[in-house]
Amino acid sequence: MRVLIYGGSFNPPHLGHLRSVQTAVKALRPDKTLLIPAADPPHKALAAGTPAKEHRLAMTALAAEVLPGCEASDMEIRRAGPSYTSDTLRELQAAYPEAELIFLMGTDMLLSIETWHEPEVIMALASLAVFAREAGREGEISTQVEHLREAYGAAVYVLDGEPVTVSSTQVRALLPMRQGREYLTDGVYAYIIRHRLYGAQPDLDWLREKAYAYLKPTRVAHVKGAEEMARRLAVRWGEDESDAAEAAILHDITKKTVGPDQLRLGEKYGIMADKWELENFELLHAKTGAAFAKDVFGVPDHIADAIRYHTTGWPGMTRLEQIVYLADAIELGRKPYPALEAIRKAAFQDLDAAVELCARRTLSYVAERGLPIHPDTAKTQQYYLKKLEDKGAFPIQLDGDANE
Ligand code: ATP
Repeated sequence: MRVLIYGGSFNPPHLGHLRSVQTAVKALRPDKTLLIPAADPPHKALAAGTPAKEHRLAMTALAAEVLPGCEASDMEIRRAGPSYTSDTLRELQAAYPEAELIFLMGTDMLLSIETWHEPEVIMALASLAVFAREAGREGEISTQVEHLREAYGAAVYVLDGEPVTVSSTQVRALLPMRQGREYLTDGVYAYIIRHRLYGAQPDLDWLREKAYAYLKPTRVAHVKGAEEMARRLAVRWGEDESDAAEAAILHDITKKTVGPDQLRLGEKYGIMADKWELENFELLHAKTGAAFAKDVFGVPDHIADAIRYHTTGWPGMTRLEQIVYLADAIELGRKPYPALEAIRKAAFQDLDAAVELCARRTLSYVAERGLPIHPDTAKTQQYYLKKLEDKGAFPIQLDGDANE
């Protein structure tokens, strides 16, 4: 029996790691392959902002999912103190006394192995397999392999294959810039975004793909329109364009859920429906959307709140909240309705006036249909009317049928 062991910080696990394991599996045909994240790597300080070890274990398990026969092990995560490889190999030897243990590593680790705790124990208990992290290190590797064979009697497999030249450090630097996804499996990337590890912000192409999958196909055009309008308004008003896009992409994320299912979704997120939401379940989609976007896509509070207030509005909205509220109402694909053009024009001239008019027009639309009026919309309209008065501005007057 052969057990292949791959240890590391896996902070996060990336495609360079997976390429290395795939190459080793192909060459060495192990019966079992274990990816073992270190709780406390003795020879490498974990970078500031490193997520909890449980997160690294969860990501390693997700990465292992794409490699048949490969699994993540929590043995180092569970063990107290520094995660010495020699201790891990002792445990594994006790668990698999008949097996050949093969410890897989990259170039950097092979070159530094003599500085590890009990290197002689490591090389006595396991064979080593080395996979170059980048091309052009063959000379250094073969010199070191010769040395380890002579000095420790080490058994070393030198693996041949095309590396993916990336490090976790590079990935961590890319993630806050909405980049780096191409170096991760989709499962690991989704996990990082969900928990917003490493200050990650989602790649918006990825977010669109994931978000649209939750929508009715007929709603996608509206969401695209809302994103486009939210971006334009963000540029006009000096808001973060990507935040506006993120909120707009997700604003209707639970809209497909209708009827009592919407109520149940609310319950799942601890949202108590109010009297008006109980009369019209659809109103709830703004609140459930905010909760869902937080849960599944890890959106920060300021984006969740923009989703939360996009239907009824709210007095004293932030600029981002105003932008998303308006973008939903005036995106270019909207069927014409009274005051649409006036709100569109105002949105680029005075956000408060545009919000006041938008809320005013919702109040009359809802009243005309005899539907219950949510008090938040009335409060929003009154708040912005007062705000306009306080700053010496006037609410927008509509002529004739108001469909200007
Ligand atoms: P960091 O950038 O945080 O130092 P890392 O990318 O070097 O992390 P680790 O989890 O510390 O990754 O490394 C675990 C093991 O994977 C080590 O043996 C390392 O040499 C190897 N390794 C890391 N990246 C690659 C790669 N791109 N190709 C092959 N092996 C790699």
